[in-house]
Amino acid sequence: MYVPDIELHEARSVNDAAELLTRYAPDVKLLAGGTDLLVDLKTGRIATKHLVSIRNVREMRGVSMEGDVLRIGARTTITELSRSSIVRNRFAPLLDATRDMAAQQIRNVATVGGNLASAVSCADLPPILIVMRASVVLVSPNGQRTVPLEEFFAGVRRTVATNTEILTEILVPIPPERSGAAYARFALRDGNAIAVASVAAGIRFDEYGLIADARVVLGAVAPNPVMVDAAAETLRGSPPTDDAYERAAVAATKAARPISDIRGSAEFRCELIGVLTKRALTTARERAGGLESERTGE
Ligand SMILES: Cc1cc2nc3c(=O)[nH]c(=O)nc-3n(C[C@H](O)[C@H](O)[C@H](O)COP(=O)(O)OP(=O)(O)OC[C@H]3O[C@@H](n4cnc5c(N)ncnc54)[C@H](O)[C@@H]3O)c2cc1C
Repeated sequence: MYVPDIELHEARSVNDAAELLTRYAPDVKLLAGGTDLLVDLKTGRIATKHLVSIRNVREMRGVSMEGDVLRIGARTTITELSRSSIVRNRFAPLLDATRDMAAQQIRNVATVGGNLASAVSCADLPPILIVMRASVVLVSPNGQRTVPLEEFFAGVRRTVATNTEILTEILVPIPPERSGAAYARFALRDGNAIAVASVAAGIRFDEYGLIADARVVLGAVAPNPVMVDAAAETLRGSPPTDDAYERAAVAATKAARPISDIRGSAEFRCELIGVLTKRALTTARERAGGLESERTGE
């Protein structure tokens, strides 16, 4: 399989990329790591006459803290994200998603922005980033806007970004005190296998050790990540017990709308959602750390 005749344009800056996208719209695509896009071009699922590469746009690369917010340049690779000491020390739940993603060779070139912008249902970063209340910055020649990630996805492989908007960075607020988050996925083998189903969960406790707030987001069981408000609702005000997690798992299973395919049946995916919800909640709770009620033995 060959990539068809396409003109490649190398952008040097975000402005440069935005200008090139506008000049060649609508017959143009942004190229980051190419791990999704090149496959789609070779198989003919997508056709375009122009590609704008952001490989050399340095301002879109890197991980940094600015005040209380983690800034991830969209051109940052999955490997760079997972090796960032800031992420390792303060945003460790993101590593649940990067650890099992694809294989090392893919992680070395695949980008964080590409993982979101491709809007593939089984992508690993969207669920945990939504749980962590991330938002994305979209830039075009008309200006800039910030969109909460939970509002970014708009159907099968679609986002709310127009084809002249560039996702330049991902913003993740520092998790609040007494909170924890986790991502659990199931795949058919350890390496280079996409998720059959996945769940990200986050919980925040009040000073009495009760769940003050929760988020449960499902992956790979609908065209876009599914935020399960009913699961959060069942958890709020409860102590972190197996019963509470079971109720959340039932609510999550009801919210899943999976398809059957070669990786698993819809029924199997629903089973998985229940198990993964409990697993993610258990890990999130462990990560929330020692709660006052436990320290005092009350
Ligand atoms: C063998 C293999 C295994 C894989 N396994 C996994 C896996 O386990 N988990 C997983 O989540 N993914 C997996 N993937 C998918 C892929 O690697 C990721 O989704 C990757 O993060 C995509 O990033 P990229 O930089 O390669 O995007 P590209 O392929 O360059 O782009 C993907 C799409 O996003 C758009 N885009 C890219 N960057 C931007 C931006 N900054 N602004 C606006 N639009 C943009 C492009 O125009 C294109 O439409 C796998 C892929 C392969 C080939």
